[in-house]
Parts: sequence; C-alpha cells; structure tokens
Amino acid sequence: ANGLDETAVLHIFEAKGRPQDNPLILHIPDASWLARYCKDVPETAYRLAGRFWPGPLTMILPKADCVPLVTTGGLDTVGMRCPDHAVTRAIIAASGVPVAAPSANTSGRPSCTTAAHVREDMDGRIEMILDGGEEVGIGLESTIVDFTEDIPVVLRPGYISLEMLRETLGDVRMDKGLIKPDSKVHPKAPGMKYRHYAPKADLAIVEGATEGVIAEIEKRAGEAEEKGLTVGIIATDETKGRYSHGIVKSIGSREQEETIAHHLYEVLRDFDSCNVSAIYSEAFFTPRMGQAIMNRLLKAAGHKIINVEEE
Ligand code: AMP
Ligand code: MG
Repeated sequence: ANGLDETAVLHIFEAKGRPQDNPLILHIPDASWLARYCKDVPETAYRLAGRFWPGPLTMILPKADCVPLVTTGGLDTVGMRCPDHAVTRAIIAASGVPVAAPSANTSGRPSCTTAAHVREDMDGRIEMILDGGEEVGIGLESTIVDFTEDIPVVLRPGYISLEMLRETLGDVRMDKGLIKPDSKVHPKAPGMKYRHYAPKADLAIVEGATEGVIAEIEKRAGEAEEKGLTVGIIATDETKGRYSHGIVKSIGSREQEETIAHHLYEVLRDFDSCNVSAIYSEAFFTPRMGQAIMNRLLKAAGHKIINVEEE
C-alpha cells in the first residue's frame, strides 16, 4: 500500500489480520528519500544505509508529519528500508510513493518465501499476487536498528549481524527484550511481542549436545508412534539419517548456515500438510546467523525448549 494513505494501509492490517499496534515498514528506492518521511536523520543512519542498502536492513527514525499514525501503529517513529529485489524495486519506482509492505502471511503464521505460500494465506483477501520468482535472498526478515536512542539498538536480529553493524557504527547494543526472550521485558519492536511464525502443530526445540538431542527426539518420536501418532522432526543434512521414527525434514546444512535461514519458513509450513501431532526441532546456534534463526524458531515454538543437559 501507499504508506501515506490511511485507507490503503488499513487494508493491509485487514488482509493479514495484523494487530493495529504492529507498525508497517516503509520501503523506498534509496536513502535520498529518508528526509521526506523522517525527521532528524543522523549521519550514522546515512552511513549504515550507504553500506547495507539496498538490503535486509530496517532503520527506525523519528517520523515526519506526513506519515500517518495508522502506518506506524501509533508511534512517533517509522521503520524505513530499501529492498534488494528487482521486482520490488520496480514497484516502488513505478508507484513513486513509500510502499508499506510487510510479509504476505496471515499474522502469526510463518512468513511467506514463495508466491505459493502467499496464495495459501491470502487467496480471496488480496487482488493480485505478483510472483517475483522462487529465489529469496536471505529467507528471514530484515535486521531492525533503532536510531532514536543515545546509541543504536538492534530490535530484531537478521542477516546483518551485531558484528557487521559495529564495523560501521561502533557502539551498538541488543534490545533487552531480545537478550532474555522468556523474561517479562517486552521487545521494543511491537511485532516481536506476538507469537509468530507458528506452524499448526505444537513445536518444541530440543537443545544440547548433538547426540543427546538426537536420542531425546528419537525417544519422543518412538513413544508417539506407540500411541498411533506421528511427529515431525526438523533435522539437518548432517543428522537426518539418524532418525528412525516420525516424518523427518532437513532444514539445510550446518556447514552452510544460510541454507537453514533459507528453508526455515518453508519447513514450518510443510508440516501443516503432514498431519503431525507435534514437531521437534534441533536447535541451530550457528556462528553467524544463529541469533536470527533461533529468534524466529523460538517464537514459532512459543519458547518451548527441552534442554537435554538439564534433564
Ligand atoms: P514485518 O513488516 O512483518 O517484517 O514487521 C515489521 C517489524 O518492524 C515488526 O516487528 C514491527 O513491530 C517493527 N517495527 C516497524 N516499525 C517500527 C517502529 N517505528 N518502531 C519499532 N518497531 C517497528
Ligand atoms: Mg511479517
């Protein structure tokens, strides 16, 4: 939608069933548009845009008066991004307006990474699906950086990591609500407080040393089978051959962590058509993108973690 048009923006909330306090991000062709929709843009924001735009980086800045509160969920700040997909960029260029564009899933469901996923959720709710092709660049939502505090704060982890941000900005910190996600401290990005990315069956993450994790999931899958139930198992290329019960899907390879990010939402959605009684996932604390991957997976699981070391 035109992010400046309240009626158009309301249609997004309606189509997605999105809570109205969860703001939308405005998508622009380049950083020269920032000053049209934001006030007091710091030099550091331009520097970060210079390095990562177009790309998976959203910056939170004080909003200009022309941006309606409906778009920002009532906040006096606005999220700004310049996406890196040829089709999206063509839409923005052709429209000549800042485009409010969330992921095209029903609110609470796993984000869409293909046009077929969009049809599953949005058929009958939107007028058109423009298929930009199979290949998604990263597979996870953008990193969100808030510039409205004394030092920049990461509100949502993504492909662009804290380390990458520090190279350009120096001092950057993580939002407190992200560091202890099971605490009572709410994340500052309104959308991060909702259960999200959830498949239809209950999901639990099994954490610990690899052998213990496999044994625990095997045990639970075997017990379910004795009751005539089937569980789903989210494994990796390295471990998928180790399970003898349940429906096993590989999410990717631990050696290539970007493959895990790529397939996360697809695997969660795939289990919806499998009629499983529960889903167990290995944990993926991979070195570079582990924080972003586990942030999404934990939300999908409603923070249900089985720690094999503690038990
Ligand atoms: P999505 O467009 O579905 O990727 O979600 C956008 C995310 O950005 C949600 O988690 C929002 O809560 C967050 N967000 C958007 N605008 C702001 C803002 N002004 N301040 C804080 N978080 C924001
Ligand atoms: Mg979304």
